Amino acid sequence: MKKNLTFFLTFVLSVFGIMASLNAQELKYCGTTEMQKKLLEQFPELLLQQQASDQILQENLAEYDGTRDDQIYIIPIVFHIIHNYGVEAISEDQVKDAVRILNEDFRKLNPDTVDIVEEFKDIAADSKIEFRLAQKTPGGGCTNGIDYIVSHETTQGDNGSKLSQWPRNMYLNVWVVNSITSFDGIDIAGYTVPPSAAEGFFATLDGIVILSNYLGSIGTGSVGTSHVLTHEIGHYLNLPHPWGSTNFPGVACGDDGIYDTPETQGWTVCDLDGSICNPGIIENVQNYMEYAYCDKMFTEGQATVMRGLLNTAVADRNNLWTTSNLEATGTNDGYVSACAPRADFNPNHYFICEDADVLFTDFSWNGDPTSWNWEFSGGTPVSSTEQNPTVIFNEPGKYTITLTSSNAIGSSTISKDIYVSSLSAQYVQYYYEGFDNATQFANDWITVNVDNNDSYWKLASNAGFSGTNSLVLTNFNGDKGDIDYAVTPALDLSGMPVTYASFRYAAASSTSDITLLDDVLSVYASTNCGETWTLHLTISGVSLINNGAWGDYFTPGSVSNNWSLGMLQLPSSLATSNVRFKFQYTGGSEGNNIYIDDVTVSEHPVGIEGLVNDASNLSIFPNPNNGDFTLTYNLPSERNVNISIVDFTGREVFALLNQLQSAGNHQQQIHSDDISSLGSGIYMVKIQAGVDSYINKLVIE
Ligand SMILES: [Zn+2]
Repeated sequence: MKKNLTFFLTFVLSVFGIMASLNAQELKYCGTTEMQKKLLEQFPELLLQQQASDQILQENLAEYDGTRDDQIYIIPIVFHIIHNYGVEAISEDQVKDAVRILNEDFRKLNPDTVDIVEEFKDIAADSKIEFRLAQKTPGGGCTNGIDYIVSHETTQGDNGSKLSQWPRNMYLNVWVVNSITSFDGIDIAGYTVPPSAAEGFFATLDGIVILSNYLGSIGTGSVGTSHVLTHEIGHYLNLPHPWGSTNFPGVACGDDGIYDTPETQGWTVCDLDGSICNPGIIENVQNYMEYAYCDKMFTEGQATVMRGLLNTAVADRNNLWTTSNLEATGTNDGYVSACAPRADFNPNHYFICEDADVLFTDFSWNGDPTSWNWEFSGGTPVSSTEQNPTVIFNEPGKYTITLTSSNAIGSSTISKDIYVSSLSAQYVQYYYEGFDNATQFANDWITVNVDNNDSYWKLASNAGFSGTNSLVLTNFNGDKGDIDYAVTPALDLSGMPVTYASFRYAAASSTSDITLLDDVLSVYASTNCGETWTLHLTISGVSLINNGAWGDYFTPGSVSNNWSLGMLQLPSSLATSNVRFKFQYTGGSEGNNIYIDDVTVSEHPVGIEGLVNDASNLSIFPNPNNGDFTLTYNLPSERNVNISIVDFTGREVFALLNQLQSAGNHQQQIHSDDISSLGSGIYMVKIQAGVDSYINKLVIE
């Protein structure tokens, strides 16, 4: 019996042990210390500034006499929801729930204070700090304190995601993102630049970055992780982790310098009897500044530190709660704003085939709309007053959709383009685009600047692999993670047993550090007019950056060593009647311009230059010419000879000769009258001599 009990206990303990470690693995933690370490590595001079600010804070804390002990400090707060219409675009209700939790936590109104362990019940503090959503923008405009910003930055939350910071002496800025860039392999739920570091130039970094699913307890949030923002605001108000500011928990015992938080090495598990550093002294596992995810309290000492900071000019914190600032931000007692909506919407497809449905979802914010006015000129219906209408577009083309959202206060309008494609392809089997004809490019290609910024695909007239033009993405001052794409016209590739897509590219970076080359060129294909895309080719690193580091705007010469060949053999799934290709560029941290030229689809695996072989055995004179030229070639033995002129895709455009010829040297005169159907341009002459083929470039002017 005893044996069985031991077994049972062991079993229970291991199950809980496994659960605890699984839990710890899945949960993400605060990245404040790691982020600060990284910032200091980047800007060593920050250390002196931080030490000076810390000195001020310590002196102030020593002098802080508590004369404002009954003062309730109200802090205006603004949430910038950085999103791309995904799950990270959390609801206003979820944000308001997060503010509710803050005000419970900082006022010790959280219902679970009854569960605080005996040792800390008496020192669990009402910090007398409150948070109110801003109701006035920095310019005095109307806001509900929740600012939705569409940006790729949501997928790589870091200091670069701190878009549209509102003045930090007026507002606490919180940026809500989909994911946060991990530091040193640590998955991060949120981080804060501490006030002593947020001075001078670094004032632009002041605020908190937090994951959308670690905010609030409803929607994508959860009760268990709903105090992460409380923890981060603790940092914002000058609280270190209880084990000090130098290490991740569990490494060594340390202290935060606050008199009533016991020495600890930090906790990622909720061991309420936890006592490691000083046997017999229970550690404050339930502290909001711990990592145990059973947090319920600040101590009186921590409240004093936070309130002390709010009485200093460090990081302008003493302006936040002033009467004049509360009035300026619309957070004074009794002020109630009602805002007009900011119109926005999200179609379920930006690319679609003719005769298909598009669902338009209202995404208006800042004020609840009571009416919607949609215009779908060319669609069915042509207009709608529904909130989320569905529309059919019967004709191919680019459609500009307009939404006006209104309520009793006012209205606003936004327009976006969607692209409807014909079911019949524009080109059959062979395709070549050299970007030398601007009109053809404008008619055939679609370029999309996802973030509507200064980096986007366009024609370049200053560089080309063949001809004088190419397609360029001006990415010299580009932003890491910025996505831009260019889409080919629809091609009918049905009946092509073996097909290759090829192109030339030339790219550079702004750095010679190859570990920083994180730009990516991806080639996708779609068989449903762009409604869905599959990835077929990815080029990155030194394979992509084939021209090294340039200190200025990169422009490739036309010599071939600046250009590489990108090529893919198409799977049989693309041998269908309507195929589009998409060239998508994702900007790197040290990007520069990239050029693409000679986009070719044919049965030949490479572009025109790759087809040229053994040119020494086939000479063309003169070359360039006006259509009159002489071919000279040598046959090693009697052969059946087939001479043709082919275009960039390798497709025959003119048959010159087909006959049996003897071994030895041959000359063949070609007259412009005979090939007058060919316009000026670049072609190839191809001689198929038995099993051998000789190919050379022909330029007709
Ligand atoms: Zn932290």
